[in-house]
Amino acid sequence: MKTHKVSSTINSIGRTASRNFISGEIVHQMNGTIITENEAEDLFVRREVDGDDFLNYDDTHFLLLDEDSRQFNHSCSPNVGLNDDLQLFALTDIKKGEEIAYDYSTTVGIDYDEWFMDTECNCQSTNCRKIIGCISTLSEETIISYKTKGAIRKYISDQL
Ligand SMILES: [Zn+2]
Repeated sequence: MKTHKVSSTINSIGRTASRNFISGEIVHQMNGTIITENEAEDLFVRREVDGDDFLNYDDTHFLLLDEDSRQFNHSCSPNVGLNDDLQLFALTDIKKGEEIAYDYSTTVGIDYDEWFMDTECNCQSTNCRKIIGCISTLSEETIISYKTKGAIRKYISDQL
């Protein structure tokens, strides 16, 4: 395993690097079950899952993440990004033992806010945005920086 489960100060559970990674290296392949928007909303309303157990897959589908994949926390100063193949890749060199976190806002298109996101952030980074919202809550500068690194999926950057 490239990462493993730990208790985290960001949220109750997180995942840390099991070894050193160099910038650009794949840290984790996100896996799960592709479900429709309605199925996702149903599970959420029945409280069978949390909002962050999902990843937006495309305009009409979600990926219901497997147990490992859903343990990665959000950070406003992430050390990994999510590429178009749903892989978390190192945005910087990462040391063994560091918590692996990505910016959830890069994964939520402009048509998803309301019930799904807008949760309070506890990432503790100096540039914390306090609220985790959809992609349009990021500054233009941040969006350009993520885009340049390939850390915004194509179907989401197409909306911008
Ligand atoms: Zn934050």
